[in-house]
Amino acid sequence: MEKIECLIIGSGPAGYTAAIYAARANLNPVIIQGIQPGGQLTTTNDVENFPGYPDGITGPIMMEDLKKQAERFGTKVINGIVTNVLFSDLKGGYHKVIIDNKNEIQSKTVIISTGASAKYLGLESEKKFMGSGVSACAVCDGFFFRNQDVVVVGGGDSAAEEATYLGKLCKKVYLLVRKNKMRASKIMQKRVLETDNIDVLYNHETMEIMGDQTVHSIKVLDTINNSEKIIKATGFFLAIGHTPNTSIFKNQLDMDEVGYLVTKPDSSLTNKPGVFASGDAQDSIYRQAVTAAGSGCMAALDAERYLSEIV
Ligand code: NDP
Repeated sequence: MEKIECLIIGSGPAGYTAAIYAARANLNPVIIQGIQPGGQLTTTNDVENFPGYPDGITGPIMMEDLKKQAERFGTKVINGIVTNVLFSDLKGGYHKVIIDNKNEIQSKTVIISTGASAKYLGLESEKKFMGSGVSACAVCDGFFFRNQDVVVVGGGDSAAEEATYLGKLCKKVYLLVRKNKMRASKIMQKRVLETDNIDVLYNHETMEIMGDQTVHSIKVLDTINNSEKIIKATGFFLAIGHTPNTSIFKNQLDMDEVGYLVTKPDSSLTNKPGVFASGDAQDSIYRQAVTAAGSGCMAALDAERYLSEIV
């Protein structure tokens, strides 16, 4: 069992930024990468809105760079999943964190940056074809659907981005939007609407994903005239938002009804002393790489301040 000063859970922009700051403050941080090393950005193709990259950068390269930057200052990166936590109520007490059901680390401070995960519609057929036609990541799986017809569900920036990405690979992309408008930013909507092989179907909902071994068509409902139709498509991509990855902290940390961790105003402080929250796990509003990075920085500064108060 290892005893340390600063443990970071999650390796997205929030986690790695926290690690860079904590390492440079000599806290010798350890970061547990989690289920998706590098976080959600590793499933994003072009990041065009992170300051400092005038030509954009791919998500995986950006995350690799952040990891290198954190390691350069001495961060220890562990490939594992946190399976249990026991947070201390005492100021200065050690928090216990179990990794992969077997290894225990005790840390005086814990920075949570576990991010969020893609949402699914909850259809039986969606589960059945998971990995054989159903995906929540166009960048990961789009390649398998080259020159084929696919469906994307959602009306936000993720859906617009996924549809545009798939438009470059696939023969035809049907974008199912449940309302009569998209909520994606104007620039992303414009890209979708200007792509010839993307067909936006407003007021459409998914009823069933159909196929044998793999998907061959999607049954949809036109909610304006209440009529069903079948779209022939071999891929079904979900882009309907995310849920915070915080279930492991339930009953220990304060969270809202959706599961976003609650932090004290203008800080990363949770209800437990020495436990700090950053990134999408606590942000239901902005959810951007740059805001996650900013909150990771805040968490590391808060952890440093906390440690200097307890010695
Ligand atoms: P959002 O929550 O913004 O959008 C989710 C979309 O999915 C909405 O259009 C919603 O419809 C739709 N939806 C939700 N549930 C269902 C359902 N059961 N059936 C059909 N449609 C459904 O999530 P995003 O992931 O798109 O974006 C999250 C955040 O990340 C945003 O702040 C976004 O700006 C940002 N982002 C930025 C990117 C970039 O700048 N490159 C790329 C991707 C995301 P409705 O509108 O009807 O509620």
